[in-house]
Amino acid sequence: MHIVLLGPPGAGKGTQAEMLSEAGDLAHVAVGEILRQAIREKTDLGIEAEMYVEQGELVPDEIIAGVIEERLRADDAQKGALLDGFPRNLTQAEFLDQLLKKLGLSLDAVVYIDVPFAALIRRSTGRRICSGCGRVYHVEFNLPQRDNVCDECGGELIQREDDREETVRNRLEVYLEQTGPLVDYYDERGLLRRVDGDQSIDEVFQVLKTMVLESHS
Ligand code: AMP
Repeated sequence: MHIVLLGPPGAGKGTQAEMLSEAGDLAHVAVGEILRQAIREKTDLGIEAEMYVEQGELVPDEIIAGVIEERLRADDAQKGALLDGFPRNLTQAEFLDQLLKKLGLSLDAVVYIDVPFAALIRRSTGRRICSGCGRVYHVEFNLPQRDNVCDECGGELIQREDDREETVRNRLEVYLEQTGPLVDYYDERGLLRRVDGDQSIDEVFQVLKTMVLESHS
């Protein structure tokens, strides 16, 4: 089972993908997280990607293509994967079609998490991530058990550089211009399912679980 999670920054793709991948034993393919880890570790990929990520721009497609191919070829992605943050434009969507074909896999569904734009800034700017394992929290909607400490690994929670308000606004613009057209692309192919993302984390999860996991089991 290979599923794309689509939606604007702050829609909750990462949080839902974490929960769904655990519930459905699927690989969580989070391109943004792969890039952030590479930036922390100062690898060649991290050095190439850093400027784009910090400004909220898309990292060039050729770089992302290599990242996604390597990730989808990994053992844990063979049984199924949730693609979180990829594709983000039409070129990447076409690349994904070809890559899945080459790997003998297919896309089962594209889930569009729909959240009104007014809510997105508050969601993104309140987000905190674990500096150790990348797990996602929120200062209002998804608190850790102990202040500023990750429930999972005990790491310190920090704000992503690109979650500052000005950068969030740029990411929303990039989304509207480049990622928005994918809604029609997948709708025309009969793959799109819409979920109202303007509900609690758990409510969205229940809908997604039924839609994605139970309909494919
Ligand atoms: P995310 O964690 O999905 O919000 O991604 C954070 C940042 O990583 C984005 O603002 C982009 O700079 C970069 N990024 C993530 N996924 C992609 C992608 N598919 N194509 C290009 N850049 C990406």
